[in-house]
Amino acid sequence: MRIDVVSIFPDYLAPLRLSLLGRAQEDGLLDLAVHDLRDFTFDRHRTVDDTPYGGGAGMVMKAEPWALALEQVLVAQGAVAGNAGHDAGPVAARRPVLIVPSPAGAVFTQAMAYELAEEPTLAFACGRYEGIDERVLEWAEQRFEVRPVSLGDYVLNGGEVAVMAMVEAIGRLLPGVVGNPESLVEESHADGLLEYPVYTKPSSWRGHDVPEVLLSGNHGKIASWRLEQQLRRTAARRPELLDGADAAPFGKAERAV
Ligand code: SAM
Repeated sequence: MRIDVVSIFPDYLAPLRLSLLGRAQEDGLLDLAVHDLRDFTFDRHRTVDDTPYGGGAGMVMKAEPWALALEQVLVAQGAVAGNAGHDAGPVAARRPVLIVPSPAGAVFTQAMAYELAEEPTLAFACGRYEGIDERVLEWAEQRFEVRPVSLGDYVLNGGEVAVMAMVEAIGRLLPGVVGNPESLVEESHADGLLEYPVYTKPSSWRGHDVPEVLLSGNHGKIASWRLEQQLRRTAARRPELLDGADAAPFGKAERAV
């Protein structure tokens, strides 16, 4: 998968070079490029923001640097032939997905991560200040499949933290990135439920014991216990998940709640 991220703080994305995703890039499973939006400005101060029409607090990201940066992304992703820096010529039949992190977007979920992991390319546009001039999204609609996506119902200073979370959630689903693919099936949200509690050695620690069933070696009983724990935990912590659990990537339709 090819991922392009545009940000005024490219260094913010540096942790994506570490750990499993770093290895995925070394192994050629993921090709990640981070672009500095200020490289697409032409004034001495490399200005990317201006005051909002209609007044109000804060600044808004200017449209033109975004158009130039996203045109370069289209060329890098092979979606258009031609010159970045000019209004990109032929629009590809396949519009690449452009994710615009925004607290006003659809909330990111594990199901969305699975869906996006199927894409050959993804682009992310990290907003700052009060956000990006809305006309950039209108313009981008003709070139990308634009998806405003929120990390959750709170406001961050910029899109970079949201992009790190999304790229990590998507990247770990790419084939070969996580050593044992079984671990993707047996985790929170894969089947729409929260994961069961996990334990490791020693079996008795400071007066707290591992549940007996996990020491029994009886795989059927362990599986039943784990499902029961998933249901209990989900009902206690996130009861609203129980309704949609069967529609999740590894939903168990026959589950009795
Ligand atoms: N004025 C915007 C609003 O109220 O919707 C918030 C702007 S926020 C200070 C600056 C940038 O941070 C946004 O453009 C977006 O890129 C990012 N951001 C903030 N909260 C986010 C969230 N919950 N999910 C994803 N991105 C977020």
